[in-house]
Parts: sequence; structure tokens; C-alpha cells
Amino acid sequence: MTEIMHVPVVVVGAGPVGLTVANLLGQDGIDVVVLERNATTVDHPRAIVLDDEGARTLQAFGAADEFLPHTIEGDGARYFDDSGHCFGTVGAGPRTYGFAKRHFMYQPELEAELVKSLERFPSVDLRFGWNVTGINQDVSGVTIACMTPEGERTIRCDWLLACDGGRSPIRQWLGIEFVGSTYEQDWIVLDLKADPDLVNYSRFYCSSTRPAVSVPAPRGGRRYEFMLLDGEVGAEMLTDASIGRLIAPYREFRKEDIIRRAIYTFHARIASRMRQGRALLLGDAAHLTPPFAGQGMNAGLRDAHNVAWKLSMLVRGLADASVLDSYDEERRKPAWAMIQLAVAMGQLVMPKGADQIALRGMLLRMLEAFPGAQDYFLQMKFKPAPRYDSGLFVDIDRQPYEASLVGQMMPQPVVKTAAGKTVRFDEILGPGFALIAQNEKDAAAIARLTHPLWQQLKPALIYLAGADKEISGVGPIIPVVTSDGFSRPLRTHRDQIVLVRPDRYVAGAFFADDEFNFADRFQQLLQNRVMERMSA
Ligand SMILES: Cc1cc2nc3c(=O)[nH]c(=O)nc-3n(C[C@H](O)[C@H](O)[C@H](O)COP(=O)(O)OP(=O)(O)OC[C@H]3O[C@@H](n4cnc5c(N)ncnc54)[C@H](O)[C@@H]3O)c2cc1C
Repeated sequence: MTEIMHVPVVVVGAGPVGLTVANLLGQDGIDVVVLERNATTVDHPRAIVLDDEGARTLQAFGAADEFLPHTIEGDGARYFDDSGHCFGTVGAGPRTYGFAKRHFMYQPELEAELVKSLERFPSVDLRFGWNVTGINQDVSGVTIACMTPEGERTIRCDWLLACDGGRSPIRQWLGIEFVGSTYEQDWIVLDLKADPDLVNYSRFYCSSTRPAVSVPAPRGGRRYEFMLLDGEVGAEMLTDASIGRLIAPYREFRKEDIIRRAIYTFHARIASRMRQGRALLLGDAAHLTPPFAGQGMNAGLRDAHNVAWKLSMLVRGLADASVLDSYDEERRKPAWAMIQLAVAMGQLVMPKGADQIALRGMLLRMLEAFPGAQDYFLQMKFKPAPRYDSGLFVDIDRQPYEASLVGQMMPQPVVKTAAGKTVRFDEILGPGFALIAQNEKDAAAIARLTHPLWQQLKPALIYLAGADKEISGVGPIIPVVTSDGFSRPLRTHRDQIVLVRPDRYVAGAFFADDEFNFADRFQQLLQNRVMERMSA
């Protein structure tokens, strides 16, 4: 009989999501085995947009500075009608979370960077060529059967993270439904190099005859996507002749410039639950979105950041298994909202039938007369903000201030340290929890906090002072002054101490004299959630 290896966490799938969650856990020193059935990471381009939240997740384990130089910062999008008239412009948008809203990238380069990043974390064991062939879950763990280059192997783990992609065998073995719909239209995706169109924004051709999208790619490349029409057969449409015809309105066809040509069917689906016992679904295994909002991989990176710190605390004995319930509670609803956004954008780009096309034309003409409304649609102001309305937050629905940040991702201002260095705020926060004071009295208070919770969380203690303040770096507090406007929303809590979770969401805010009550409540969320709910 083969020896059974035991490990706290197994990640199945070395796509961007599996590699990201492994990096986050590895940074905390958690023992993790990553199992990937292929011999290497995927070598063809898929996701082409990394958003600001995704970049922030990479920053959390020190990979952003390495990877972002391989990307190009996006300058939004332009929308064109049948006559070639640009009826809508989306700008680059603010850097609220510390990074450009869009970075155009190649997914294989991101995956290579994530693999390289893992080399820094000896507790992570990445195994290529390990195909998971079955799982068996019981009350104390999960047994995983694998076919490996050396034959059959079995691994036993306490927690299984299924990052095994849209067809997720694990989701199917768990019997979790994948609800939603599949698009009738297939699309051709063409990745080209040496493209003459070097603008760093996306172009949406909202054509009534052939909807198409073109997106910048690093190093002078560009991706073109064309909707297939009824009756068009995928394989025939991938020939040089067909591609030449499709691309003709946009550029010259040169076979040697084609990096990849493929047909894709788009889906809008979500798992009916993201946790089942000791198994959790992340990334495409949990949700699939049409690519119009560039959110597929980014939604998965959010899953990774959301679950990693909870699992890390659980494995280190600092939280109960019930914290993992908050993963589904926090992530499923926003993930579905993001899918709906992509579906809505798809309807704008590819309306069905003459009626919808006419309606879209009318709507767009009307919007031009109302710049405010046009702005709302085209700047995607309906895009769901990074916020949760329930989960591991203290008093999320009973905040004294209307503009409270509790439940929201904290903005990431650029700050200046006592040594005069200018950095993004998260560099000061570090990878774990942080307590932020915004006045001298609270700065003194966070140096004296006594509740045992703080011993467990070991938060970074930060004094975020106004730009006009003199600061000096003495004691346990790290003082910084703001040097851009993105800290303004934090001023809502200027008389409170703000607790930020490792995934950069604001867990709660409290007045210094309410420390014990607040800390008790948060500790209950981590370690006694059921009791808290029953007594609520
Ligand atoms: C044409 C196209 C364009 C896209 N554009 C964007 C975009 O602009 N922005 C964006 O955010 N997203 C985009 N996406 C989506 C993005 O590529 C996916 O969301 C992302 O790859 C999902 O990552 P993942 O790690 O969840 O899954 P995957 O990348 O699919 O990785 C899953 C891994 O699990 C492995 N695996 C599966 N089964 C097993 C098993 N039994 N044992 C071991 N290993 C297993 C697979 O081999 C694979 O390596 C696009 C997708 C497509 C197809």
C-alpha cells in the first residue's frame, strides 16, 4: 500500500487562482501542496486584463512590483457604432485602490511570475503532472486520489481548495450545481502581435452585423474578438481565409503575427455553494463569466484573497472552522453581480435581432443628449464596488456614520513615511491585520491596547496623519502622512480606530474607549460565530 501523505491544505489546480492562494498561504508559512495535472502552467493567452483589486492582491505577497512592468496600463475603452462614430469614451478612472483600473497582460506571464514567487515560500510544494482522480470527504479530512508520473498516490488533507477551472471535476464530485446560462453565440478570439493599433484602450465595435472587440496586449500585441453569426461553423471560421476577412476592417492579415486563434463559448454561471464541508471552490470552479468586463480571473483572485487569511488563521488555531462560512457569504453575491455586469455589457455589444439593435441605437442616441446618464453607463458606475453587506465584520449594518467604510475595501492612498519615502499604503500595512488611528490621541491609544485579541491578530499599528502634520518614527506606531486624496474616505472614521483585514476590507471601526466591546465582538466572529448568531 502506498504511504498516505498528510498536509493541512491541498490546492488543486495551478492556474492563476490556485497559484495566488498558494502564495498567500505560503507567505503565512502554512504547509500547502498544489496539485496540477499538466506538466507546466498553461502557455496560451486567456485573461488579458488584471484589474486594480487583482493588482492589490499580487501586492499583498510582493509579486506586483515584479509583474506589473510586464503589463501596460489601460486607458479605458471606446465604443463605436455601425458608422464608426465613437459614441462613448471610458477613461482610465481613479487609482482608488492604489493601481490603475486595468493592466493589459498575458496570462502565461502572470502564471510564470506566480510560480517564481512561490519559490520564496518553502512551505508550499508545487507538483506538476499530478492529476486528481477522486476525492473522499469525511468529518476529519479529505482523501485525494491522484495519478502521478510515478503511479497512483493518495494525499490526505484537512482543507481542500478546488481551483480546478470551469469544468471543475471536484465541483462535480461534490455534486454542487453550476447554475446560470451558456451563451448561444460562440466567439473567435485572436491574439496577434505587431499590431498597427497601438492605443492602450479597448475598442468595442457595437456593430449590428458583426460585433467585435479589440483589446491592447503587451509589447505591441492586440487581441481581437469576433462574434460568430448564426450558421457559421467554428472550424471553418478559423481558416486563414476567414480570419483574413474578419480582420480586414481593422488591420492587414499576416499569418506570422497570429499567436493564437480559438473559438470560445461564454458562460454566465455560479456554483450553488462555494463551500461544502472541508472543500471550497475558488475561481472558475466557482463562477464563470463572459469576458466583456474582464473579470473572470480577477473574480478568482478576490476569492483567493478572501479565503486565504481565514484558512491561515484556522490552520494556526486562531479561528474556528465556521469562519469559512463567511467565504460563501461574502463572495457569492458580489461574484454573481459581476457576472451580471458582464452579461449587460455583452448585451450592449451584441444585441440579438433587429428589435434589440434598433432599441440599442435609440438608447445610445438618447444617452448622448444626457451626458450624466451616458457617463453612468459608459464609465460603468453601476459596476459593483468592492464591498460586502454581511460576513466577518463588526456591526456592518449599525454604523454611526452613513459613509462608513465597514464592509468595504479600504482605499489605498500613497503615503509619505517619517523618513520621507513615498509608498503605497499597503506597504506600510504589511500582509496581515492593521489598526489605523487618525489623530494623536488614538495613535497613543493603539500603542496601549490590552485586549488579548491583539496578541492573536498582531496588527500593524499605523498613525495616518494629515498632510500638514509633523511625524516622527518612534515607538511601535508607524506614522505616515497622506500624499494624495484617496485617504479622504477614511476621514469618516477620523475619531475612531479602524481595523483592516488582511484582504484589505475594513472589519470594523471603534472609539478608543470601546476597545474591549469591539475586540470581544470580533473575537466572537472568529472563534464563536455560532454563539454570536444565536444570541443576536
Ligand atoms: C478568451 C478568454 C478571455 C478571457 N479574458 C479575461 C480577462 O480579460 N480578464 C479576466 O479576469 N479573465 C479573463 N478570462 C478568464 C480567465 O482566463 C479565467 O477566469 C482564469 O484562467 C481562471 O483561473 P482559475 O485558476 O480559476 O482556473 P484555470 O486557469 O482554468 O486553472 C485550473 C487549473 O486546474 C487544473 N486542473 C483541472 N482539473 C484538475 C485535476 N483533476 N487535477 C489536477 N489539476 C487539475 C487545470 O489543468 C488548470 O491548470 C478569459 C478567459 C477566456 C477563455
